[in-house]
Amino acid sequence: MIATLLPTMSIGMPLSCQRGTTEIQDGVLDYGPLLDKTPIVRVLLINDAKDAQLAIRGSYQITGSLTNIIEQGQGLQNATISVTNSSIKIGNKNYDNSELRITSLRDGEIELNKVRYRGEIRILLQFNNKFSVINEIDLESFVAGVLGSEMMPSWNEEALRAQAVTARTYALYKKKKRRDEVYHLDMLELAYRGMAGETTRLNKIVQETKGVVMVYNWNIFPAYFHSTCGGHTEDSNHVFGKDSIPPLSGVVCNYCNNSKYSRWSTDINKSDIEKRLRESNIYVSNINTIKTLDPGVGNHGSRVEIISANGSKEMNANDFRLLVGPNYLYSTAFNSRNNGKSITFSGRGWGHGVGLCQYGAQAMAEKGFKWTAILEYYYPKINLVRVY
Ligand SMILES: [Zn+2]
Repeated sequence: MIATLLPTMSIGMPLSCQRGTTEIQDGVLDYGPLLDKTPIVRVLLINDAKDAQLAIRGSYQITGSLTNIIEQGQGLQNATISVTNSSIKIGNKNYDNSELRITSLRDGEIELNKVRYRGEIRILLQFNNKFSVINEIDLESFVAGVLGSEMMPSWNEEALRAQAVTARTYALYKKKKRRDEVYHLDMLELAYRGMAGETTRLNKIVQETKGVVMVYNWNIFPAYFHSTCGGHTEDSNHVFGKDSIPPLSGVVCNYCNNSKYSRWSTDINKSDIEKRLRESNIYVSNINTIKTLDPGVGNHGSRVEIISANGSKEMNANDFRLLVGPNYLYSTAFNSRNNGKSITFSGRGWGHGVGLCQYGAQAMAEKGFKWTAILEYYYPKINLVRVY
């Protein structure tokens, strides 16, 4: 964990005062490895599942939670994972275990619900006769998987490098924050489709920034990113209610005008909004008005007020966006108009607006900015450090 792994770093001390730093490439400081090996991250792939499809290519081994080898085998055809209250079933084999770890040996692949993964797959029995699956994977392979899912693989390599460092920083922060939890990251936070997103070009780009993360005042921080800010990135305090730090306070962005989500307008039926809110036990009917309150520097509202037959309700704006659906209501920087059966939302940007603007990063790269300059633009006052 980075807090203990960066023991010589004290808050606020300038980098040049630190031990033996050398600049390895434009502005990235190298201390010699601070971590002795590439960290492993635990990613929640599925939760509350009743069944899932598993296939394995190459040789593999299955262990219990205590690394006792239960089985070794060679390839596994499509098999269904299911559970009882005390055992896990794979195909027609029953294992009296509450956890199974499946490791592919010698560069094999594990396929879960048609998506191929590197590393280890852990199946964990839940209390409700359901199960969850966690992928334990080295951070570099994880970053490669995220990169191919979060950005167009054909984008400028400087933008892809910036995204790789962003994803690595975010994942390492979450590993530190959730070090005692069953998993560090879940699929709601960032897109990750295992090996599906990987290409030779992307793997090379990840390799070129291997071990590089952003720090602010010697601390790793949640390096949020999003598709399109719409003109100004947002202060994390307004979106997530967390203390602001300079790298997450918002900057002007004149680079994402080419994104089709830079400005948008969409009609959403009131009944759909009411239904989606109801699924989270928020009850409104006959919506009259939806407006954003307390916008931040990037004009993304921090709360929304919903005026309906049930009176006035306020809730966190980003939660509202996610409940309605991030593919319907693109951002919280919107105005709205009541059309009777539907509400017309007109807004800017796609995503929460905090941190790196992906379309902006791509436009900066096309204009000739290096990945280090892109990161220093969207996350002011950071230092780039190689930690392994
Ligand atoms: Zn932008």
